[in-house]
Order: sequence, then C-alpha cells, then structure tokens
Amino acid sequence: MTGITLSTGFSNGHVSYWVASEPTPPERAPLPGPIEVDVAIIGAGLTGLWTAYYLKEANPDLEVALIEREFAGFGASGRNGGWMSAKPAGMFRRYAKGHGADAAIALQNEMFGAVDESIRVARAEGFDEDIAHDGLLHVATNRAQLHRMRGYLAALRQQGWGGDHLVELSPAEFAERIRIDNALGGYWTRHCARVHPAKYVYGLAAAVERRGAVIYERTTATAVGPHLVRTDRGDVRARHVVQALEGYTVSLSGQARRMLPMNSSMVVTEPLTDDQFDSIGWKGGELLGDVAHSFTYAQRTADGRIALGGRGVPYNFRSSFDQDGRTAEKAVAQLGARVLELFPGLAGARLQHSWSGVLGVPRDWSAAVNHDRQSGVIVAGGYVGHGLTGTNLAARTVRDLILGETTELTRLPWVDHHTRNWELEPLRWIGATALYAAYRYADRREYASGSPRTHPAARFADWVSGRAG
Ligand SMILES: Cc1cc2nc3c(=O)[nH]c(=O)nc-3n(C[C@H](O)[C@H](O)[C@H](O)COP(=O)(O)OP(=O)(O)OC[C@H]3O[C@@H](n4cnc5c(N)ncnc54)[C@H](O)[C@@H]3O)c2cc1C
Repeated sequence: MTGITLSTGFSNGHVSYWVASEPTPPERAPLPGPIEVDVAIIGAGLTGLWTAYYLKEANPDLEVALIEREFAGFGASGRNGGWMSAKPAGMFRRYAKGHGADAAIALQNEMFGAVDESIRVARAEGFDEDIAHDGLLHVATNRAQLHRMRGYLAALRQQGWGGDHLVELSPAEFAERIRIDNALGGYWTRHCARVHPAKYVYGLAAAVERRGAVIYERTTATAVGPHLVRTDRGDVRARHVVQALEGYTVSLSGQARRMLPMNSSMVVTEPLTDDQFDSIGWKGGELLGDVAHSFTYAQRTADGRIALGGRGVPYNFRSSFDQDGRTAEKAVAQLGARVLELFPGLAGARLQHSWSGVLGVPRDWSAAVNHDRQSGVIVAGGYVGHGLTGTNLAARTVRDLILGETTELTRLPWVDHHTRNWELEPLRWIGATALYAAYRYADRREYASGSPRTHPAARFADWVSGRAG
C-alpha cells in the first residue's frame, strides 16, 4: 500500500488534534502551598473529574481538590478516539472467576447505563456538542476475522448483550452504513456514542468547577501515603485520596510497575469533501473498528474528517513516552496506510495531525477500583483503552465508597480487584514488544492465507499475556 500524503501544515504531537483545534482554556492556578481537604484527587482526566462531579453532587459541602501536573484533559482523556462504548475495561472471565458470572454481567449492565449517563450529564451541563449517539460498527475484512467475530458475538450474548444489543451485518448491510474495501461482514451495536474528547473533558472540568471543586494545575504529585498526597508545591492532607492517573501511575514513587503505560496513536485527515464521504457512504456518526489483532478504531469527526487510531509503537523501554504526544514517523505511515486500506477511494486525502497518548494496562488487563480503608487511598483505572465510559462508572463507584454506602456499584466485581505488578525490565519491554509483533505477524498471515482459523502466533500471544479466553 502506498503512503498517504501529509498536509503542508502537518502537525505531530502538541497533545492531540482535539486539544489543538479547541481554544486553550484559561490556565488554572497551581497549589498555593500545603492544604487540608476532605477529598484529594490526583489527576484531572475523566476519572478524577467525574469523581469530583459526583461527590459534589452528592454532598456540596465536601471540600474536593484535584491535583493536576499539566492541565485538565492533558492525558488520555484529551487524546482518545472518542468511542464512548459499553465494552467493560477488563476481562469478563477474570471478573466472573472471583465473583461469578452474574456479577460480571451486572458490570456489563452498568456499562450500558454508563453510556447513557455520560450523555445525560453532558446534555444537562451543556457540553454535549459534537456527541452523536449512532452506535458502533465493527468490520471483518478476512475470513479469520469473520470467524473470530462470530465467536466473539456468541460470547457477548452470554455476557449480557441481549438480542437487540448486537446486530450482525452482511457485507451488503454493512455497505449501507459504510463502504469498506473487502468487508466480509460485521456487526453494529447501539451502545456507543461519538464524542470530541477535548470538548467533552473541558466541558466536564467547567461543570466540576461550577459545583465548587478546585482544580490545581501545574502541580505534580510525587508520592501518596495514608491520607496524604505529596506534591512539588506542598502536601495535601485529606480524609480520602483518589489516585486517578491511569497510564501516568508510573510517575508516583514506588508505583513504577503497577501499570504499563501503553501507547496508542492517532491520525486525522484534512476535512474531506462531500464527494469523498459519498464515495465511502459514511453519513452518520457511527464509530468504526476492525477485528484485527492489532486493532484499529476510527470516527467521522463532527468537522468532516476521519480520525483513526491504532497501537503504533505500543511500549517503550522503562515505561518512557513522549509527554507531548509526538508519534514515530513509522507509526504515522502505518496509520495513514490503514486509512487507505479501508478506504482506497480516499487516495487523494491528506493527514493533518498525528499524536499519541498512554493508557493504563494492569498486569491482568482488567480495570479496578481499589479502596484501602485504613489509608483512605482509592485507586481507580486500568481501563486498557476502554475508559471513556468506564471512567464515569468508576467515579460513581468511588463516590459510594467515599460516602461509606454499600450499593450495587460497590458490589461490582472490579471493586477490590487486585493483580500483581508487571515484570522488571527488560522482561516488560521484551514481552510487550513481542506481543504486538506476534499480533502484527498474525494479521499479515491471516490476510495472506485466507484461512478462517486464527493464526497460532496470535493464539500463543493471547495465552502468554493472559488475554486468552
Ligand atoms: C490515543 C488514545 C485513544 C483512546 N481511545 C479511546 C476510545 O476511543 N474509547 C475509550 O473508551 N477509551 C479510549 N482511550 C482510553 C481513554 O482515553 C482512557 O481510558 C481515559 O481517558 C482515562 O482517563 P483517566 O482520567 O483515568 O486518565 P488520564 O486522562 O490519562 O488522566 C490522568 C491525568 O493525570 C495527570 N498526571 C500525570 N501524572 C501526574 C502527577 N504525577 N501528578 C498530578 N497529575 C498527574 C495527567 O496530566 C492527566 O491529566 C484512548 C486512549 C488513548 C491514549
């Protein structure tokens, strides 16, 4: 596949296209010095902001402070693909193992509700601009993908996805929604909405401030202890400390192996013409994903572009990553090529921006909300790239834990779900690099062979990494 052209003003990094395309919000003041509050939240991404929002809604008298190293929305929450989907951030099998299948299904049901709740609040608070609740399409473009997809649909049916939640589509039915080269079939679910990530997270931050929580920006947390957050601008003492750092968890003292910061990279095209969109038939706001092992996700943006993401260079030695989101040229070329593989008719399209961000991957690939009642520390996250909706559910769960209430949410199987740390380097790097090399190899072989069977390299990678099943 020949490469896609870059626009003359092509931009790489600078957080994300979403952030670059929005007016810069006014800078918030850093922490003025040591303070004492009821709840200290580290990280002003969606997890931290939703937590503050629901706590202030439940009890306006609570003093809630957010400690943010850069600005609200700087992390994954201002960089993501804008898929607000109902897929739980974790593995059904793991949640079911500890708590039974019904508990894991309860988590799935809460995720369906969390999509609607995230949209409801956005509408009520006036930050619903660009949200389109048109659902999510997945496409299979070789026989192995089609076979795998059908197995996946059967598994989802057992995990709480009812009859009308999933609609399998023939190639002709798929083409009525989006025309994709070599589509052999796919499925659609209504449980997903498209968002503009920066508009969404900025809107939520403003709503949080209207409710009286304080966001301290340009303040770095360095360590967490019982009822304490140590920062570069003074200590914050609090009855409750919420750690909401996702891929950035590694920046805290003693937590370097708790979460693996996995890179995800995106590109966005220049605005496409009506003729170009007509040629691919993508008229609505449906999100689009494939069923490849090295997964691709995309949206048609509200301003008439295609934004597409994938793994790029998934992991750097010793958990390092470019803070500004600069993306390796090789990854930009791969993502651009993927746009043209899906839509060869867009050969004249040009890329305007590329960027990367980190998502948090726990050792068992399953998100958790963990509460240490003695120290007052709650850690929420590990969504493995599915946190846009999960942050909302996690935050409401954190609220109930802080308020000391036993609810349906505090009984969910991801509460107090612990896993071990990641391996020491260089094992961590070797494992993550080999995993994605195996997935890329398996994808290539599945296209080349035309076999309906999942390639053994991918099955082996799933088994070794603990993602099988
Ligand atoms: C490129 C990309 C695409 C994605 N696409 C999707 C998608 O389409 N759908 C989906 O569901 N999920 C997606 N995700 C995942 C989703 O964005 C995340 O799960 C979610 O945003 C996590 O929110 P968070 O608040 O937990 O973490 P973050 O948004 O990462 O927030 C953490 C915050 O902590 C701050 N911080 C870091 N270190 C410190 C410190 N030491 N002290 C104080 N503050 C600190 C950071 O600046 C940041 O603002 C994607 C992620 C990426 C990177």
